[in-house]
Amino acid sequence: MAENLPDQGGYFDANLQSLYESSIDQLIADLGYQITLNLPASEAECPNCGVGFDLRSDGIYNTSHPYPTSDARNQYFPAGATCPVCRGSHKLLTEDSVNYTALVKYTPNEWDMNATGIDKSEVVRLKTRIEALEEVKRADTMEVEGSLYKLISDPVKTGLQTRTYLKSYWQRIDG
Ligand SMILES: [Zn+2]
Repeated sequence: MAENLPDQGGYFDANLQSLYESSIDQLIADLGYQITLNLPASEAECPNCGVGFDLRSDGIYNTSHPYPTSDARNQYFPAGATCPVCRGSHKLLTEDSVNYTALVKYTPNEWDMNATGIDKSEVVRLKTRIEALEEVKRADTMEVEGSLYKLISDPVKTGLQTRTYLKSYWQRIDG
């Protein structure tokens, strides 16, 4: 009975892992679409004016401006006027987004409508490299091919032995 069966785990050696990863990376590069993750806007102090006692603009142009006059955030205004960049709030919201290449599967068959109440025709599955994990979780929305989506389940790490890829499911929200 004691046959010399190969240890199944032994097949998953470093070469196979590396072959697997280069194949999936090549698939993503060849067949992937560019996706955009729209991250929450971040708030920064206005570079164009000083801060007043109430933490709003002090109404004085910042003469040691970090940006050149060609930059939209550098707009001279006379003292006492409202700063044209922050309109007096001394706060600037900066939109933030990041692009990845992902394998995109529309209407994924494995999506369980009964468990979620979401029809699979509204669902898209993305496969990216795992580096996207934190941004996938933080993203307010995701755009692919001109449509907007929201994340509808926790991203799943996939791969052979090493979790190198990330699978995530999104629902279309723009009609
Ligand atoms: Zn300002």
